[in-house]
Amino acid sequence: MAITKTDFINYTKCPRYMALAEIKKERLEADVFYDDYKESEKQEQIQELLGSMFELNEAEEEVDLVDKINRQLEAMLKYYNQVEIEAGRIVKNMFPGKTVFAEETHNQECFDFNRNGIKYMCYVDVYNECEDKINIIEVKATTSKKYVELLGNYPKCEKYSIFQEINNIHYLKDELDGYDIEAEMPLEKYTELREKLFDRYGIGGYIYDLAVQRFIIEGEYKQSNNQEQLKNIKYYLAVLNCDYIFDGTYEGGKPVYNQDSDGNEIITFFDMTKVTEEFQKIILNDADNLEKNIRELNPSPCKLGKWCGYKKQNCCKFFTPICGAHIPKKNSSLSYIHNGFGFKDLDGNRIKGLDLINEGYIDMLDIPEAWITNEAHRIQRDCLSFDTVHLDKEKLAMGLKQLQYPIYHLDFETFPCPMPRYKGEWPYIQSPFEFSLHIEHAPGVCDKDKDNYVFLATSHKDEREELVKKLVEWINPDKGTLFAQNVAFEKGRIKELAKIFPEYKEPLMKMYDRGFDLLWLVNTKSSFYEELGFDKTRAKLFNFYDKRLSGSFSIKKTLPVFSDLSYDNLVVKNGTEAIVEYANYPYMSKEEFDLKYKALEIYCKQDTWAMVVILDELRKLVK
Ligand code: SF4
Repeated sequence: MAITKTDFINYTKCPRYMALAEIKKERLEADVFYDDYKESEKQEQIQELLGSMFELNEAEEEVDLVDKINRQLEAMLKYYNQVEIEAGRIVKNMFPGKTVFAEETHNQECFDFNRNGIKYMCYVDVYNECEDKINIIEVKATTSKKYVELLGNYPKCEKYSIFQEINNIHYLKDELDGYDIEAEMPLEKYTELREKLFDRYGIGGYIYDLAVQRFIIEGEYKQSNNQEQLKNIKYYLAVLNCDYIFDGTYEGGKPVYNQDSDGNEIITFFDMTKVTEEFQKIILNDADNLEKNIRELNPSPCKLGKWCGYKKQNCCKFFTPICGAHIPKKNSSLSYIHNGFGFKDLDGNRIKGLDLINEGYIDMLDIPEAWITNEAHRIQRDCLSFDTVHLDKEKLAMGLKQLQYPIYHLDFETFPCPMPRYKGEWPYIQSPFEFSLHIEHAPGVCDKDKDNYVFLATSHKDEREELVKKLVEWINPDKGTLFAQNVAFEKGRIKELAKIFPEYKEPLMKMYDRGFDLLWLVNTKSSFYEELGFDKTRAKLFNFYDKRLSGSFSIKKTLPVFSDLSYDNLVVKNGTEAIVEYANYPYMSKEEFDLKYKALEIYCKQDTWAMVVILDELRKLVK
């Protein structure tokens, strides 16, 4: 039987995964060839890419595409491949000798070895060999931010990263000779942050991946009695540089990622040689468990936990249909708002997250009353138990009073491309390609069609300036309210556009200053209501709650409570689908393009119209 790196990662999640994967007899005996390997890697890469694209999004509805990997989503792979190509190019410039990566050859460097009758194998993204040194480089379409921002400090002092960059390679500071870590943060803090690199279900996920590679590579060298070579191998993660700003150079219509004006390369490296070495005892233990799982192939339920990736883009594919199928979609014990710390039972033990499910607390009402100490949780529970609606009429009325007219209901659709595409962009910038605007002139005075304005890019060419021109043409920056669900997102895009197009900075920043969030009305915003004179406790509590919200104030949840508008009958139903359709522009026939263009317009228009409808319903509640 052959186990690839991806298999290793999946089969070591829990004892059940492999049995559920219904590995058939022939598969168990089969070898794995390059094309099979690439196919399974491709599926992983799409998930990974989507995961990176959405790590900033809190809308839980966006996760449902994970199982719908299809030809359309493969358009995204183009960007993943670009990351690998750029990594290979930069490695060639940085390291002398021979460099092998996917773009150059069908036969990426492959390693394998046998252990207890199992063949472990992996292909290396970028392999570099010079004289007596070997560099193994694992490329990930994520950004350096998550590693660089492992920050520590002394109280009230400047924060420092645990990494130091030298010539585009980041090193852990404890690995640099004579580095005075204690001058920046207490050693315990440094150690605590460094430990996070070993959390395979958290920030250490990609490092775990690299450590599995190392396990297989070392296995091959040891098996071929080439142990001496091991000390000459370095292991790097190559990721997108979060500091990189694209200067807008193109050749033959394609972006050329030169060093930016601050000397940053688009890809930066993290030396994980020492960390992956320390990881090996964990990997060895996981390999033993994996072999046990293969022998036992036991499909019985096991504990759910962080390995399931619940509510994450990389959620285990068995969670929804099998392992988590008994968790109700609405009002489960996991639907209590802001409940990261879980509940304290009567003995003072904390039970949180999926452990509530493991211990049999499945429905919202399964949580014993005595455990509920938070007022918001009490309201949620009462609304469910007694089928009532919670409304703080006075607070909502005060919130509504603060709105100035006209109200500009605004929603951007953005493309968080791994590779910056236009001048002034950086990796994963949320680059707007569409917006919808509904203008509400006075309370309730807004026509669904006549008061709607949509800008939608017609191609992948840089149309940002046209978009900005339409924004400043349709929105009067000196009057009214800029209104959005999660307005921080819309404001963030406006601020970025103001920076990239300074000639429009003044009107854009005036709009920015007029931002108001629909969520402040339905849910709340403590500081806003405290300023309006409400006490802290009341300011913190949501204004409205209905059991149908099931612990979420996302527009897809609030809309059915306030209207019968639905996204179900739309061609484009959510933000992820909008991104995919836009990404597919270049591959569409004229007919398909016309159809999808219209569908994108309708989808975005629905988002702003939904806000108009909800706002109107909120007004009725306080009459
Ligand atoms: S959902 Fe969780 S418990 Fe079930 S197979 Fe996946 S990782 Fe294992």
